[in-house]
Parts: sequence; structure tokens; C-alpha cells
Amino acid sequence: MTEAWGPGGEDDRPRRGLPGPVRVRVPAKVNLHLGVGPLREDGYHELNTVYQAISIYDELTARRGDTLTLTMEGEGAGELALDESNLAIRAARALAAYTGRPAHARLHLRKQIPLAGGLAGGSADAAAALVACDALWGTDLSRDELAVIAARLGSDVPFLVYGGTALGTGHGETISPILARPTTWHWVVAVADEGLSTPAAYAELDRLRAEYAAPPPLRNADALLAALRGRDPARLGRALGNDLQAAALALRPALATTLKAGEAAGALAGIVSGSGPTCVFLAPDAAEAERIAAELETAGVCRAARTAHGPVPGARIGAGA
Ligand code: ATP
Repeated sequence: MTEAWGPGGEDDRPRRGLPGPVRVRVPAKVNLHLGVGPLREDGYHELNTVYQAISIYDELTARRGDTLTLTMEGEGAGELALDESNLAIRAARALAAYTGRPAHARLHLRKQIPLAGGLAGGSADAAAALVACDALWGTDLSRDELAVIAARLGSDVPFLVYGGTALGTGHGETISPILARPTTWHWVVAVADEGLSTPAAYAELDRLRAEYAAPPPLRNADALLAALRGRDPARLGRALGNDLQAAALALRPALATTLKAGEAAGALAGIVSGSGPTCVFLAPDAAEAERIAAELETAGVCRAARTAHGPVPGARIGAGA
């Protein structure tokens, strides 16, 4: 599709683009706070969430080509469809449609973000494809314009265009950066054996809530935001919260053992990431994070435990993974 729905009108900016390859590194996200409100008429839940981009990365490389193709290696290779359903392909097509140019590129993904893990790996790849193709094609959109296209692709995609730490409202797609004095937080990321579907987690939450007399109000992120500003890991640990956690635990009861094991190993707090099943633990510092990760792996309560820090920037050109 080459019809433009984007800026339209006369636009005589030079559109030479880069000769390629363009390599983009994009992080995973965790939700430090995930308040889930009632189901809206459009099928989305109203959210109030605080995202943080962390240092587990996918890498997408875009080269010039005569058609649009995708290859991949790493997490999920051989499982994940590389056709029009893949979010990287959908993102390239959406950018081409927005800018009114042909969607010609050879994309290659090196995935490290686990599939269906609650870390928004698919959304990350969509953000990476937008940034990479924008540079390859010389369409030269601003981050804010890329975020408009991103919002059509998925609730988490705009955040991954920006990265850092940000408040997400609406269904998560409306992003406001959180300006706090720079602080690095240290995380342990416990990856589960098998993914969990995001729609299944929301459906389970709706089922659990159907038993309440009235739907709970949307929880705001005030305590979490104050804890971030306070720069005190113990306080941040107490403020972490995820309304989807009860649903993830109902669908995957073994996650309760993982959460307990992380806290017993010395984490300040543990939480299910987004819709799960990945669990993330806040550590007091980098050395403790390494120690907790090693202990979790030895305990056999997860497929793998990795350390990460955040916040980190969103999809960016040129940084190696
Ligand atoms: P979120 O936290 O945003 O709910 P998630 O981390 O749980 O997402 P993803 O890895 O983003 O899950 O994938 C969710 C689904 O999206 C996958 O099961 C897959 O079917 C689909 N998908 C499409 N493209 C991709 C991609 N490039 N990488 C991963 N999943 C993709």
C-alpha cells in the first residue's frame, strides 16, 4: 500500500535515506506500576502504567531490497511467524503507508527478548522497524510522528520509540516522560519456560473481577512516582504494583514460587512483569542483582535469570546489542 495517510501535501524534503545497513537496538520494558481500569467499549482496558525500558535488547537490521522480507535468529526463531503477522513487518508497512512510499527493505532480527514474556518484545521489534526504515528510506520523521504510527500497532509500541521511564495512559499508548534526577535501578529478570498470552491474562482478570460487587477504580501511580523521585530502592520496592499479577498467578500458579524465591534470595521486591510470566526483582545494587540471579538459577524456579538495569533509551540507531 503506498497511499499516504500521514503528513500529506507538498513535502520537498530530500529523501535519499541511508545506503544501509541500518542497525537499531531496542530494549524490553517492565511495568513498575500497572493499574488496570474497567474494560472500555472499544475492547481495551483503561490503564495507568509506569513503564521502564531495561537493558535486555533485540537488534533489528534493515537493508535495501526490492520487496519486504524478514529473517530472524535468537529467542523464538523457528516459532515466530515471519509473515505479515509479524510486528516488524506490520511496522514497516505502516510507515510506508504513512509516508506514501513502497515498503521495500530486508529486515533481520536478532532476538534476545523472550516471546510472550510480558516484556513487550514484539512491540519493541515494531518500534525498531519504524526507526530503522525511517532512516533507510530517508523519511526523516520525528519521534513524535513515529509514536503516532506506533500507537496504531500496539499499546506498548509508542513507549519503546521513546524509552526511559514514562507514564502510559489511555490503553498505554499515550506517553508522558517522567523527569526525575538520573538514577540507575538494578533488576533481575526471571524468564519462564513458556510464554503467557496477554489477551488471556486480561480475560482472566475480567473473570476474577466479575466476582466483585463493583469494578475497582483505576489505581493511579502517585506512590510509585514519588518513590522514583525519592531514588531509594527500598521505597521503590514497596511501591511496585501490578493489577494483572493476580490473573497471571491464577493462570500460572508456579510463579508464586518464583516470586518467593527471589525475595528469599534478597530482592527488595518481586513482581510479575506486565501480563507475565516473566518475574522481575528489584535489587539494591548491581552486585546483589548478579548474586540473586545466580541463586534463582540454582533454585531452578525459572528457565533463566538475567540481570538488567534501567532506564535505558528506546529504539536507537547504531548501538550494538
Ligand atoms: P506485551 O508485554 O506487550 O503484552 P509480550 O512480551 O507478552 O507482550 P510479545 O513477545 O511482544 O509478548 O509477543 C506477543 C505476541 O505477538 C507473540 O505471541 C506473537 O504471536 C506476536 N508477535 C508478532 N510479532 C512479533 C515479534 N516480532 N516478536 C514477538 N512476538 C511477536
